[in-house]
Amino acid sequence: MNVHDSDRIRRMIQDAGYAEVQRYEDADLVILNTCYVRENAVDRVKGHLGELNRLRREGRVKKVALTGCIGAAEESAALKQTYDIDLVLGTHNTYELAQFVGLPTMQETYTPELPGTEGGHNAFVTIMTGCNYQCSYCIVPTVRGRMICRPMGSVIGEVENLVAGGTGYVTLLGQTVDAWRHGGKRFCDLLEAVSESAPRVWFTTSHPSNMEDRTLRAMGERDTIVKRLHLPVQSGSDRMLKVMHRGYKAERYRRKIEVFREAAPDGTLSTDIIVGHPGETEEDHEQTLRLVEDCAFDSAYIFKFSPRRGTEAASLPGTVPDAVVQRRFLEVLRQVEQNAFTRNQRKVGGEEEIYIRHGSTEDGKAIGETWSGHAVHVNTDAAPGNYVKANIESAGPHVLYAGEPGARV
Ligand code: SAM
Ligand code: SF4
Repeated sequence: MNVHDSDRIRRMIQDAGYAEVQRYEDADLVILNTCYVRENAVDRVKGHLGELNRLRREGRVKKVALTGCIGAAEESAALKQTYDIDLVLGTHNTYELAQFVGLPTMQETYTPELPGTEGGHNAFVTIMTGCNYQCSYCIVPTVRGRMICRPMGSVIGEVENLVAGGTGYVTLLGQTVDAWRHGGKRFCDLLEAVSESAPRVWFTTSHPSNMEDRTLRAMGERDTIVKRLHLPVQSGSDRMLKVMHRGYKAERYRRKIEVFREAAPDGTLSTDIIVGHPGETEEDHEQTLRLVEDCAFDSAYIFKFSPRRGTEAASLPGTVPDAVVQRRFLEVLRQVEQNAFTRNQRKVGGEEEIYIRHGSTEDGKAIGETWSGHAVHVNTDAAPGNYVKANIESAGPHVLYAGEPGARV
């Protein structure tokens, strides 16, 4: 989502006549678009702001703007006092940047008024903003606000424009995309409609409480939908899921995964897991390990709990010691990697149609994606956006390796 927001910001200031440069010291204006989900993101921003302060004193950078989720958080006031920042914007008023860079005033941040990712071989399309959940640990509802769903016609209109402009891969974006509802339509209706307009479609991220079986079945049935499901579980313990206010039990999650595996046996499944949430016991952790084994995730983002000021979890008792968090983190990671490695081995020997996401680097390897959602390294000079066919020769826990030459499709 931040990549998408940054892309729009970049296009907005390019419209104002700015050109993009690679080093701060070559920039008149630096815009830091920020994340606030975990403390390490804030630490990194502070590092950048410190460096920018120095460059400003030397007269090498003229203006600094801070945008995104830190901009929407109370902490931005303290940052503004400590560092030299000309403009602070949250997530709902990015359009104010237009005036700041000398463009005509804009009324809102929502698409499609702001330029999106037109012209790229793949593009993000925001279908909803904000989130109506109140997970104990999460700052997103505070900094992104409540859920607003974009009308279906507006989404389809943007997708059709993108496809007409050459985009071949559309990713539908939102904090809980499967919670999307508008004018009597539900997420599956929208996904099906988009899958008829776009040659390749994916969506992220989903919430288990909103995920409907018919969406999972549509993933299996529709040729244009990438069979890659990202469904964050956070914990395998019902006790922790309740403390986190996730609104489902582990068994319900397992059932959803069964439906997905049946609908798309070859598909890939990824998740988010938090280790060390306050009050997490050894038994809770064991249950997470069991769930990881049962669901055999193809990959997972594993996060160490990071207290966010203003969230419920930040003031809960039962802090888990760092050393215990680290051990649990590694245990979950090992379990995920073992499963992923075993599942990836099954792909070896098969032929795959591969969508090229990133063109080849100096070693001649391009990075692509199969219809099952596996990442593949493939020897080809095909440009991003093209498809090649190649045999999978080997596999690691994170990626498949295809042989050459990849014939163009
Ligand atoms: N809306 C998505 C959902 O509910 O699944 C997730 C959005 S959040 C930006 C991405 C992930 O960051 C979450 O799934 C969670 O695992 C992790 N996360 C959020 N807050 C966190 C915190 N305070 N500490 C550690 N991880 C956190
Ligand atoms: Fe945060 Fe996701 Fe929970 Fe919303 S559903 S509060 S974005 S973790």
